[in-house]
Amino acid sequence: MKISLIGTGYVGLVTGTCFAEVGHDVICVDCDAAKVELLRNGGVPIYEPGLEELIQKNVAAGRLSFTTSTKEGVEKSDIVFIAVPTPPLPDGSVDLSYMEGVARDIAGAMTQYKIVVDKSTVPVKTGEKVAETIRRYCKSKVEFDVVSNPEFLREGFAVEDFLKPDRIVIGVLSQRPVAAMRELYAPFHAPVIVTDINSAELIKHASNSFLALKISYINALSILCESSGANVQEVANGIGMDPRIGRRFLDASLGFGGSCFPKDLSAFIKIAEQLGYDFALLREVQRINTHQMDRFFKKIVETLWVLKQKKIGVLGLAFKQNTDDVRMSPAIDLCQRLQKEGALLRVHDPKAMEKARALLPDVTCVPDMNAVADGCDALVIATEWPQFKKLDVERARRMMTHPILFDGRNLFDPEEMENLGFIYKSIGR
Ligand code: NAD
Repeated sequence: MKISLIGTGYVGLVTGTCFAEVGHDVICVDCDAAKVELLRNGGVPIYEPGLEELIQKNVAAGRLSFTTSTKEGVEKSDIVFIAVPTPPLPDGSVDLSYMEGVARDIAGAMTQYKIVVDKSTVPVKTGEKVAETIRRYCKSKVEFDVVSNPEFLREGFAVEDFLKPDRIVIGVLSQRPVAAMRELYAPFHAPVIVTDINSAELIKHASNSFLALKISYINALSILCESSGANVQEVANGIGMDPRIGRRFLDASLGFGGSCFPKDLSAFIKIAEQLGYDFALLREVQRINTHQMDRFFKKIVETLWVLKQKKIGVLGLAFKQNTDDVRMSPAIDLCQRLQKEGALLRVHDPKAMEKARALLPDVTCVPDMNAVADGCDALVIATEWPQFKKLDVERARRMMTHPILFDGRNLFDPEEMENLGFIYKSIGR
């Protein structure tokens, strides 16, 4: 099938590449000319395991190409995906100006029937607005359908998630586009939920908010564990073995971040408000998340007292493992708080150092993770990269001015670290 993607970011590029991989003809469109140029020259603007190889393979097979022209993308495809940003406005609601702009561009370029699919995360009722906008701006009055097809991939596992999805949600305003959407996704052999467009849009915000709620729940429990002498990991294992609950998203930490959870949570609270419901439960999820970072930062201050001129090593800058994405990263937030108090930072991340540089101008980037702690008064673990578990801790202890370790991701065993001579502080243990 012939597909275009308007917006070639984390979602658009992965979606386009994976559709090409299963045999569809794909054009990825982006207004960022430098990004399109980079992709055309064989470069990849983001880090996602397995993505580069798939792009190369499908470009070589002639199934994947890149352009800055929405008109070209629309003309050469039967199904047009919208995967542009839906960032938060200062009051937490969603900025839908990218969506609206693309809807107008698509309307202007349509000369025959198209299925327009919204893949961006949007408030319930956006699909209806997109349809209204296309109808208004399409001069030739051609037929079209608008579909909501929210994306559930996780950054860091995006290719794997897209190729092997748990479910595919297709929200429609009429039955006309259903057969084509089923055919498009047939190669993925995943359960397909066909529903009305408003339900599809709601499913995405409801899923992300529920996952954020699960994280805040275990983080709140981590406070009880600290004050009672229990161990939050043992508690998480105990409750997570109940299949009604599940173990995933029950890792206590310095809080969640990233480009999706904080933004989608604020958006969902605002959407509820506009629909006349005060979603106080989700406001509490936000509060617990901020409090968790405050608590972690306080532990550092209470231990080190004055931070001015203290040398602190930080392992991890990305918002989670396996990605170079630093948008709304708790690790960056923590670094900025430490810098504000005058600490001098030595930082390392396996993939995110380049992207973090703009947000953390005055830090020393250390290419070798084992050298980060050299000469430091304390070491902080801020991202759960699995390789950090293999840190040469003996060397770190020898090279540090003071062997103090703040583990914001519970990667190490408290007893082992204390036996090695560290002052070791983690979360909920
Ligand atoms: P992104 O910022 O990585 O990519 C968006 C791209 O759209 C950028 O490359 C930008 O240049 C381009 N763009 C903006 N306006 C455009 C226009 N008018 N024409 C063409 N291109 C345009 O964003 P993302 O992380 O891919 O997120 C996109 C949407 O998907 C958001 O709604 C997000 O909430 C949702 N989503 C993201 C994830 C994720 O893990 N990142 C997962 C599921 C859903």
